[in-house]
Amino acid sequence: MGITRILIANRGEIALRIHRAAHEMGIETVAVHSTADADAMHVRLADHAVCIGPPSATDSYLNIANIISAAEISQADAIHPGYGFLSENAKFAEIVEAHDIKWIGPKPEHIRTMGDKVTAKKTAGDLGLPLVPGSPGAVESVEEAKRIAAEIGYPVLVKAASGGGGRGMKVVPEESQLESLMSQAKSEAKSAFGDDTVYLEKYLGNPRHIEFQVFGDGNGNAIHLGERDCSLQRRHQKVLEEAPSPVLTSAERDRMGKVCADAMAQMGYRGAGTIEFLWENGEFFFIEMNTRLQVEHPVTEAITGVDLVREQIRVAEGRPLSVAQDEIAFKGHAIECRINAEDPFTFAPSPGKVSYYHSAGGMHVRVDSGLYAGYSIPPYYDSMIAKLIVYGRTREGCIMRLKRALEEMVIEGPKTNIPLHQALLKEADILNGDYSIKWLEEWLAQRE
Ligand code: ADP
Repeated sequence: MGITRILIANRGEIALRIHRAAHEMGIETVAVHSTADADAMHVRLADHAVCIGPPSATDSYLNIANIISAAEISQADAIHPGYGFLSENAKFAEIVEAHDIKWIGPKPEHIRTMGDKVTAKKTAGDLGLPLVPGSPGAVESVEEAKRIAAEIGYPVLVKAASGGGGRGMKVVPEESQLESLMSQAKSEAKSAFGDDTVYLEKYLGNPRHIEFQVFGDGNGNAIHLGERDCSLQRRHQKVLEEAPSPVLTSAERDRMGKVCADAMAQMGYRGAGTIEFLWENGEFFFIEMNTRLQVEHPVTEAITGVDLVREQIRVAEGRPLSVAQDEIAFKGHAIECRINAEDPFTFAPSPGKVSYYHSAGGMHVRVDSGLYAGYSIPPYYDSMIAKLIVYGRTREGCIMRLKRALEEMVIEGPKTNIPLHQALLKEADILNGDYSIKWLEEWLAQRE
């Protein structure tokens, strides 16, 4: 059945992104917002708007009762959660569906399975995805941890089953430190996630982060849309993403993409998903799956021409995938820069009033942002204020265009990390595509 009105349970650029896809499909939108976001661009553009609470996300964007009430009041027949907030909350997905509202996202049971990293890893292994060597499941005792660590070899990584954002993760260089680091990881996980379950993994020295975009119709058909290379990270936060990865051959892409798509088909996965791997010496190792749209999805859209949000909405309506695997061709190169309101080198957040704003433009330049002159960036949420996505027929061409676009973009008032992106695009390693997940932090440490 067709969707007529989507409630967007999110804010910022992603709320706008969803609004745009909906309007292009002739679907009305309902913006929900905290009092701090009353003047946000997506609220202005949406057909309807409902205030769902005070600035604190716990009381607004994470307030399930208020969001469901807003959907009832506005007669929305579907909810899109965006990323972050409630997007990977299986209970929320179930509540939405129990209210006869379409959930524009994966089946709740799949969100739950992939949300627990121990179950996710086990499921991934059963589906044929290559895993990082480690404990077969949760590790109960220090003795067990010592035995497994000795088998896989040090250094090992203690990871929290409920982890996210790199929290509850400890690198253990040798056995003598295992007991104390494992108990630190457990208590960190307990206080952050209310769950002290941990497991062990081999710590990879210098991998790249390469993730595959997958898409399923929920009825056993699934495709992949290639990979994104997100190795440029600071504190596990991605800074710049590109597609395709500078290190994958097209044969490797096809092979690994098929492994991912087959796994999703076997699961009966519905909607958009991302399977994250670490890649080292030509080998892939599954680390986790995200059961939602990713921030960096536009680079995939740029090289495949597929509108992923439109596809999500179609699948939620019960329609089949709009493209078959053999119709997907990877063309050219795309890079996304995450533009944050923060000091470019100390990373201190810099919210506040935008006194002047000029967006970049021109051929193959896409800016996803709710920014406008006079807008006040609230201090309560994520610091990302815009995404600049640039396409080129070649990686070199893409980088030249990206430099040009960054020169054009003017944001006055708050500090932004545009100078960081400009500095990165002068580095030979970045220009050559020769960087791992360690690169950015090492580069930043050298600058000090
Ligand atoms: P989270 O959900 O907390 O982000 P992930 O499992 O996605 O946890 O890991 C986050 C990041 O931690 C990865 O992108 C990578 O940089 C690093 N990491 C995770 N597992 C390993 C590993 N086995 N070896 C080395 N680095 C790892």
